[in-house]
Amino acid sequence: MRWAAVLLMPLLAGCARDSFNLATQREEYSFTSTEKEVAMGRQIARQVEEELAVVADEPLQDRVRALGARIVGVCDRKELIYHFAVVKDDEVNAFSLPGGYVYLNAGLVKAAANDDELASVIAHEVGHVCARHAVKRYESSLGSQLVQLAAIASRQGAAARGVSIAMQAAQLAYARDDELAADRLAVKYLKAAGFDPRGMLGFLEKLREVDRNNTQYLPRGVVRPRYAMTHPYVPERLRAAKEALFGVADYVDYLNTSE
Ligand SMILES: [Zn+2]
Repeated sequence: MRWAAVLLMPLLAGCARDSFNLATQREEYSFTSTEKEVAMGRQIARQVEEELAVVADEPLQDRVRALGARIVGVCDRKELIYHFAVVKDDEVNAFSLPGGYVYLNAGLVKAAANDDELASVIAHEVGHVCARHAVKRYESSLGSQLVQLAAIASRQGAAARGVSIAMQAAQLAYARDDELAADRLAVKYLKAAGFDPRGMLGFLEKLREVDRNNTQYLPRGVVRPRYAMTHPYVPERLRAAKEALFGVADYVDYLNTSE
């Protein structure tokens, strides 16, 4: 099966090596060379764009690419060629693939109030790419994820619904620490690129609302909103982001209540 080949490629073709990761400030051990990572990302990107069409709105794509270029200019992995695209999906969501492919759903772009909020999402996803979170995820839990995804596919007929396993794999949730690390990198990149990093707080507040609205009338534990599945820990991220920006977690809460 094609998806299995895509996901297994780095393990089979790569050889283990150590290299210093600027984003995490650590020497890291990986099976996957940058070249292999880019090849893997490119293959998944092709499937993503087949299934979620890229929005035919050049000014909008230009706007997102321009914001992306500003973030890339200050990020920790400038050796990659980044791709930014808005895809047709009303869900408030965004995701990144190995090798520098970053996708924003049309629903998320619509929900963002301004360029600072949109840049905060882009910076978060670029943070995942720079820290190589997706690659590490594929390397560390590949076996269990493949089993899990195969089970989901056979149970729900994902292939029949036109949702490929590769794309589902691309949208799996990151670990809590990866989410918080991507946020820390996002704050750093937003500041360095001249954006107002408070845009991140604004957008995280919005996500909290989206989660709240989506779960309000659902019996607990039965259905979870997709955003919460791919980007959990929003309340904790908000707290951490406030701390990163102001040193105290409740500074903005204080401002909001005193207005
Ligand atoms: Zn994330």
